[in-house]
Amino acid sequence: MRLLTNAAILAMIFVMAAPVHGFRADTDERPILPWDLVIQKEKPELPIAKVMFDSSHSFDALHYSIHMTYPFNSGTFSAYCEMRAVSNENNLSQVELDMVHLVADGVSGERWVDTLSFTRTDSTIIVNLAEPLQTGDTFTVRIRYHDTAQQRGMYYYPRNFYSMAEPYDARWWFPCYDKPWDKATGNVEFIVEDPDELSLQSRMASNGSFWGVYYSEIYTIYNWETDIPMSTYLFCVALLDSCAHWTVNIPDGTGDSIPCMYYVFREDSALAAYDFANVPHMMGAFNYYFGPYPFEKYGMVAVTPFAYGGMEHQTMTTINRSWINGTRANEFGIAHELAHQWWGDMVTMSDFRHIWLNEGFATYAEALFTEYFYGQNTYAPRIQWYQDYYFIYDEYYGRFPLFDPVAIFNAAEYFKGALVLHMLRGMMGDEAFFNGLRQYGQLYRYGNASTEDFRAVMEDVSGLSLFTFFHQWIYEPGYPEYRYAWSYSQSGIGYVINLNVAQVQQNAPIFTMPIQYRIHTATGDTTVTLLNSQQLQTYDIYVTGIPTAVDFDPNHWVVCKVQLVNSIDDFGRIPQEYSLLPNYPNPFNGGTVISFILPKDEQVKLAVYDINGRIVKTLVDGWVEKGGHSYRWEATLADGSPAAAGTYIYRLDAGGRKFAGKMTYLK
Ligand SMILES: [Zn+2]
Repeated sequence: MRLLTNAAILAMIFVMAAPVHGFRADTDERPILPWDLVIQKEKPELPIAKVMFDSSHSFDALHYSIHMTYPFNSGTFSAYCEMRAVSNENNLSQVELDMVHLVADGVSGERWVDTLSFTRTDSTIIVNLAEPLQTGDTFTVRIRYHDTAQQRGMYYYPRNFYSMAEPYDARWWFPCYDKPWDKATGNVEFIVEDPDELSLQSRMASNGSFWGVYYSEIYTIYNWETDIPMSTYLFCVALLDSCAHWTVNIPDGTGDSIPCMYYVFREDSALAAYDFANVPHMMGAFNYYFGPYPFEKYGMVAVTPFAYGGMEHQTMTTINRSWINGTRANEFGIAHELAHQWWGDMVTMSDFRHIWLNEGFATYAEALFTEYFYGQNTYAPRIQWYQDYYFIYDEYYGRFPLFDPVAIFNAAEYFKGALVLHMLRGMMGDEAFFNGLRQYGQLYRYGNASTEDFRAVMEDVSGLSLFTFFHQWIYEPGYPEYRYAWSYSQSGIGYVINLNVAQVQQNAPIFTMPIQYRIHTATGDTTVTLLNSQQLQTYDIYVTGIPTAVDFDPNHWVVCKVQLVNSIDDFGRIPQEYSLLPNYPNPFNGGTVISFILPKDEQVKLAVYDINGRIVKTLVDGWVEKGGHSYRWEATLADGSPAAAGTYIYRLDAGGRKFAGKMTYLK
């Protein structure tokens, strides 16, 4: 899915940013990949990320057959939906489907005469089967229902009638087991009544193959069928009055071609022909990077009004009519939705906690399209634009991990998600990265995958250990902010550069990343890659010529802010001073880490106090070596019992001074 607002805000930032970059996508200067040196974090705190799959539920939906009758130019519809499914357990006697607002008129089984009893809740229908089923038994449940379009799931406006269901609204237009990981094939029969009033130019678009249209004096019937499994949120119908429709054959990457079917209002057809003209190039780009197009057809249907930019319904994207204006201004949106056919539709995230696997991939694909079609020099500005936008979003809308966001379609999933792929490409190199994407696509083709599934494939392909990479970028919030300083001295016949790098971000982890440095010297330039994994880190780099400059991440592979400072004294967190750092995370609910830096060995006390100044827990009281130290408070009292939720003070007593910070414990 693509939001309208992102595009609008991005357009504004793009004008402001005017990025200039030295990065080239075809650079030979790949990092040296020091990932094998990365020591895994001792105690990974991955969220409990149970991944569901077909056999983990009492039944597995196989096919939905939706038959919808629509009196032309009204918001009402009557329908029946047949779900064919297989039981995953013995003695299955009830089937519960998601079904909201729709009025159930009756339920039957394999045959229409096999009436089944049912009960309703606010959000489901529970069908009592005729007899208990055993594991492996297939069965059919047919639910007749009617409703008026609630502008949720189904939308009615005078010129069009369409569905839009991501993430959880399929249940507002057909009863189904509405989980993205339970894919099923489907067919839609769409019966338009009262064709006297029906413009002969109206048309209906849906998923899969078009099986034809049948006209009679009293109704028109459209039939579509898809035999490739699909998540419920990707099922779609859209009927346009006064519709222009045409088909373009596009190479699908296998040497064959697929039909690309367009449906727009008649008066928009000339503009649309221009706006859609680069779709074959988008298809060419994604065939090249991701592998052959995975479905039997593609298409776009334009509706209005539409609360979104575009929605990647499997093989039939619904777009906002405003994207058609004869300027191609929204062609990156069109590319985004096409890319979702691979990432979102062919491979669907296992559940919406992993939404970055859909939106980050489709957003990154926009940058690949521009690199492929408009030239390699257009890739870096687009990546820079993503980073600029992500930083602004992070600053003004809040910081949180990509995994399991509160608001699913937040901009970070799109832009930071895309940047995660950009960084992976930088670390792995083009060959391994794109091989990895294609293998991931093949392995989870027509199924579902989680972040961990994607990580496993990329580790297999690259031989790298990517645990820390995914942990910090997907399961932790924020990004690194580096400060660096350098100086040099003579060393034998050459010179030694003393490079100091600090990470000064707050409310984010300390990041472990390979960083490239370009060293400029009087006798030439050289690039080195060094692993950075600590809050303060010092390196000695030997060169033969007099050093004149040190560039940090010159190819812009790492999502970060960078500041070159004159000397280590400018860090603000230098070991020559006492420093108590903000605890992380804050607020917290499991535990939190408090860090400080000492300029010399000495007696210190670090303790947690309540807001009345009473001591709650002493974390250290004794001699501590100079340098940085971290202590974890598990939110317990001195006797080990749990602390109450609330505000606490942590205080460091060292060098005759007191340093304090405030933190919030949530339960
Ligand atoms: Zn999207």
